[in-house]
Amino acid sequence: MSDIEVRSLTAGYPGHRVLAAVDLSVPKAGVTAVLGHSGCGKSTLLRAVAGLLRPSAGSIRLGDITVVGPGVWVKPEHRAVGLVPQEGGLFPHLDVAGNVGFGLAGSRRERTRRIDELLDMVGLPGTGSLRPHELSGGMQQRVAVARALARRPRIVLLDEPFSALDAGLRDQVRSEVLAAIKADGATALLVTHDQDEALSVADRVAVMRDGRIVQHGTPLDLYRDPVDVGVGQFVGEATILPATFVGDALSDCVLGRVPVRVPTAVPPERGSKGHLLVRPEEVQLGAPDRTSRWTAVAVQYHGHDCLIELESVDSPHPLAARVLGPATVRPGNRVGFTLAAPPLFLPDQP
Ligand code: ADP
Ligand code: MG
Repeated sequence: MSDIEVRSLTAGYPGHRVLAAVDLSVPKAGVTAVLGHSGCGKSTLLRAVAGLLRPSAGSIRLGDITVVGPGVWVKPEHRAVGLVPQEGGLFPHLDVAGNVGFGLAGSRRERTRRIDELLDMVGLPGTGSLRPHELSGGMQQRVAVARALARRPRIVLLDEPFSALDAGLRDQVRSEVLAAIKADGATALLVTHDQDEALSVADRVAVMRDGRIVQHGTPLDLYRDPVDVGVGQFVGEATILPATFVGDALSDCVLGRVPVRVPTAVPPERGSKGHLLVRPEEVQLGAPDRTSRWTAVAVQYHGHDCLIELESVDSPHPLAARVLGPATVRPGNRVGFTLAAPPLFLPDQP
């Protein structure tokens, strides 16, 4: 059974509807990410689940308790969720230990032990007596995470809690926090606009656009079988080429007639217009070749690999290729390529 069940949820602010009939089932335990551009309604959804915002329609069930529905409203403090708000939201008049231990039951010794354990986990040992204003933004954010986990809530809502951290610290704190949530057997709903973060740490990802969930699946599902070009481009890099499906897993496009994959749920009809989603790792570069009609115009180094942008007078659409290790071509080189794997053909929506 799902642990968070959101049905036809409509919510927003006076004169501004943000969520439009959102449906979302979050399985028990594990991490589900809600991924979407800034302003699409991610925080609004979390605030509705936490009980900080009253939806105008729809229902929310947490575990086996309906907390929002026709005639039903359970107050935030009775929902047994831990929330890490987008802006830390610490109590300024309490020190770090006071913030983390706020509302924590038990003897003084038990509380101190739990607070120390949480501060260790978020990488802030020995900071219990500091005040929030003595901490950097990233440190405050980590204290907010510790506070949300203190009472071992069954459901933890995390609103972009890692985005204020430096890249190096981010990976470490994120894996420790998520590991702690998993170890407690809790369910985490993590909001982020960072597709790398969503794909790398979440068990399932719900992609949100304009106040709706447009696709929900495993990171692999989203990457391999996006429902549309927008999702495909959002989760990973891709070149989009106009194409016509000609049947037998073949499409005509600027590269000629090429083998393609098609969406398994609704395969396209012969003659359908659509687009190819070409992932850079599907483009296999050859050696520099003066006779090729494609030219490398840019090389982006990422250390472990590099991304090479190709252009051709025959195509208004540039193409990106990923090469492991150092680049084998330089800007200005003419170079040939093959498709190492068939790209996905996505028919245009009617
Ligand atoms: P996200 O978290 O995905 O960036 P939000 O849920 O914060 O998006 O915001 C969704 C929309 O609601 C945005 O257009 C935003 O400007 C608007 N909004 C957010 N908070 C408020 C508020 N308190 N009052 C009015 N509008 C708001
Ligand atoms: Mg937000």
